[in-house]
Amino acid sequence: MARVAVVGAGIAGLACAQSLHNAGHEVHVFEKSRGAGGRMATRRTGHGSFDHGAQYFTVRDPAFRAVVDQWLANGVIAPYAGRIVHLHAGTTRPLSHTEQRYVATPAMTSVCRALSANMDVDFECRITAVTPGEDGWRLSWEEGGESGFAAVVLAIPAAQALPLCTAVPELATQIRQGGHAPCWAVMVCYDQPLALEFDAAFVSGAAVGWVMRDASRPGRAAGERWVLHASAEWSRVHLEANAETVGPMLVEAFHAAAGIHAEVVESRAHCWRFALSDGLSAGSFWDVSRRIGICGDWCADGRIEGAYLSGTGLAAKLLPII
Ligand SMILES: Cc1cc2nc3c(=O)[nH]c(=O)nc-3n(C[C@H](O)[C@H](O)[C@H](O)COP(=O)(O)OP(=O)(O)OC[C@H]3O[C@@H](n4cnc5c(N)ncnc54)[C@H](O)[C@@H]3O)c2cc1C
Repeated sequence: MARVAVVGAGIAGLACAQSLHNAGHEVHVFEKSRGAGGRMATRRTGHGSFDHGAQYFTVRDPAFRAVVDQWLANGVIAPYAGRIVHLHAGTTRPLSHTEQRYVATPAMTSVCRALSANMDVDFECRITAVTPGEDGWRLSWEEGGESGFAAVVLAIPAAQALPLCTAVPELATQIRQGGHAPCWAVMVCYDQPLALEFDAAFVSGAAVGWVMRDASRPGRAAGERWVLHASAEWSRVHLEANAETVGPMLVEAFHAAAGIHAEVVESRAHCWRFALSDGLSAGSFWDVSRRIGICGDWCADGRIEGAYLSGTGLAAKLLPII
């Protein structure tokens, strides 16, 4: 049995951790936030909850399909049946290609909460250094603690992984190929239902690129709450803007694109600096001799499915050598 550290309790880290744990290894997960989920995030406000990161996922790979079927059977996820359209300057048209979308219930964090249920996770613990130690690696964290492990998995965005890989230049070179585009997200609450013939839309020709009515998803409380995601270009240009100015700008862009006037009760903006990645399709990167590896959406296809498979794929590489 090996002692393995996994940095990051997003879906990639937890998928990897669970595979290693199920094979009988002693796995410790470190997460800088207060809960599991990473970008599969949920924000609670006085006006209800919002999934302000990823809002749904799709399934293409048969191995992931089998996992998704289990989650469906356990009620951790449900199919999404809302009306999705393309929206451009007040005009909608149906999607030409539709695929089944799934949402976690009752919140997007539910999948990662389920994956972490039997796992040893240290929350609010940011790893600040990974250095060679006796028989493996030493991990140090913000509060000044440190501990030794036989193997280390970094399941975090490329830009956040780079400073932790100074002791492994070959891995750092591979990590430099990866990256994420930013995304500003706005959570908006209205006191009246919006008179719209859709529940979600891919928006073109506007600052917003995607909008979704939160309560159109299964297991959500009633209420007119919308999540707006700015386009990658707009988010990049406004990366350093402050949340108080970004919120109203994106709400106005949504109203203009949808051709509506509506009274907003509250809006809050959140900037995802490392939101979406084109993915590298390598799956994961692994230094066999030094027993350190990296996984995450950016190593795969940039989506939830890819992140999950990146995590289990890295575990499969690790298992024969620990
Ligand atoms: C706005 C937005 C919309 C999206 N839409 C979709 C979509 O529609 N469909 C889809 O499939 N995907 C979508 N995605 C992408 C999807 O969310 C990601 O692909 C997936 O969640 C990535 O999982 P991950 O485990 O690789 O990384 P993450 O979820 O980012 O997890 C990494 C974790 O590591 C933690 N961490 C980072 N550094 C440290 C450190 N030093 N110490 C400890 N912990 C650390 C972070 O707090 C985080 O919890 C979207 C993402 C965003 C932001």
